[in-house]
Amino acid sequence: MQTNFLVIGSGISGLNFALHAAKKGKVILVTKKKLIDSNTNYAQGGIAAVLDKTDDAEKHINDTIEAGDFHNDKKAVRFMVENSAEAIYRLIDLGVAFEKDKNKLKLAKEGGHNKRRIAYVGDYTGQEIERILIKRVKEHLNIKIIENCFALKLITHRKTCYGSQVIHRNQVDNIFADQTILATGGIGQIYSNTTNPSIATGDGIAMAVEAGCKTQDMEFIQFHPTALDKQITPRFLISETVRGEGAKLLNSKGQRFMTKRHKLKDLAPRSIVAKEIYKELEDGPVYLDISHKDRKFLKKRFPKIYAKLRSYKIDMAKDHIPVTPAAHYLCGGVKTDLNGRTKIKNLFAFGEVTRTGVHGANRLASNSLLEALVFSNQIIKKLKPSKKLKIITIDRPTLSLKTSKESLLAKRLRKEIQKLMWKYAGIVRDRKLIKKEGIPAIKQILQELSHITSTNQIIAETTNLAQTALLILTSAKKRRRTLGCHFVE
Ligand SMILES: Cc1cc2nc3c(=O)[nH]c(=O)nc-3n(C[C@H](O)[C@H](O)[C@H](O)COP(=O)(O)OP(=O)(O)OC[C@H]3O[C@@H](n4cnc5c(N)ncnc54)[C@H](O)[C@@H]3O)c2cc1C
Repeated sequence: MQTNFLVIGSGISGLNFALHAAKKGKVILVTKKKLIDSNTNYAQGGIAAVLDKTDDAEKHINDTIEAGDFHNDKKAVRFMVENSAEAIYRLIDLGVAFEKDKNKLKLAKEGGHNKRRIAYVGDYTGQEIERILIKRVKEHLNIKIIENCFALKLITHRKTCYGSQVIHRNQVDNIFADQTILATGGIGQIYSNTTNPSIATGDGIAMAVEAGCKTQDMEFIQFHPTALDKQITPRFLISETVRGEGAKLLNSKGQRFMTKRHKLKDLAPRSIVAKEIYKELEDGPVYLDISHKDRKFLKKRFPKIYAKLRSYKIDMAKDHIPVTPAAHYLCGGVKTDLNGRTKIKNLFAFGEVTRTGVHGANRLASNSLLEALVFSNQIIKKLKPSKKLKIITIDRPTLSLKTSKESLLAKRLRKEIQKLMWKYAGIVRDRKLIKKEGIPAIKQILQELSHITSTNQIIAETTNLAQTALLILTSAKKRRRTLGCHFVE
């Protein structure tokens, strides 16, 4: 197969990019499960943007940089914030019905924001964006969608990308493209405790690194402070907008603990709240309490959360909600410039897979959908289908059965990686332990995986998880002091 643009991933960044690219050429969009299977589909809170008269770009920039512990790339932050309103209006034009009050967008507040600036749709903003973008992509005659198609390896030659090798219908195929776009999302599945769905296995990062790209800021993993404390995979998120609407955090003695720990109290930046909850959990469960709010309000404002909690016999209008931190977002990733370019010619990346520099050492809430959207809006303005497509030969690996001995080994190793990463690269880190125990343990797993000569999605994902885990541990080992969401013991 051959095309002008090969887009890998069907979250907000892949779908949005595909819509722009389809105006310039033929697009093939591949995604490893169904189209809706993405982190985007899980986003609850909304998208931050400068939309209110009392707000301005400088305030949003300052909040972003303060949350990022001043590690951000200021040029990238300004670029994102100054294009934020345009990005929201684009979504509205495509059909996303953000909540309004008499023609004015309703805006929510989340941790680290000094203004109400989050456009939202109930507590299922991501699902609504995903639904509309999928609808538009399906309508487009220039876009060919291939579901259940797993990108295995980028096809590269002399620092140029020519497409990707994929597994589809139990076969290995090559898709050649003028431009290849990584929109493969995050890495949450590296941890035993995560809000991310099963697709988030760091494939894009591992493939890009293998092709010669650089990564940066890999140690900055954001742990969401308030996942529901019930053993489910992925962990169900209690959006920060619940605290934005007045929910308070209580420790096992029923006391508010954030009041003494940060000036923004329960709405302090996520890294701070996650660490404080983590400490409190040593003495017993931690709860969110929004029971002072009216049931009618809660049902209307948080329909999904309300219903989910009811399924666990928790009534948010009366009961306290047990919460715990969970791995949520990777602030670093594949290094790109403001145009989404990587070090490899004709290979672009955007969305959670990238390190654009906007998040610094800790992402400000609701800036990730914005980053994915703004960057995938801008890049395409400068992109043309390249005329020189060179077809090169590439070895096709042998496929292994999902029930084979190798696949079972990969499944077992995946669980080990998840446990190791929670222990060594979790909320609070010990550099000596990372060096002495964490890194050697992951290297041992990579060694075991290297003996597997055949491949399939399970084996490839596990290898990608292990390679990405090593990148995280290596970066965490190098950073001596606490910064943003990297807490050093
Ligand atoms: C529970 C939850 C709540 C969140 N809430 C918010 C919020 O309120 N506001 C906000 O700004 N952000 C939020 N986020 C973060 C935000 O949703 C993500 O950062 C963003 O959606 C990432 O978009 P993306 O397009 O980069 O990746 P994704 O949406 O994750 O899409 C990645 C796509 O790539 C595909 N893929 C991956 N690997 C391969 C492969 N090898 N081959 C083929 N396809 C592949 C996946 O199947 C998927 O379709 C939340 C995240 C979670 C998990």
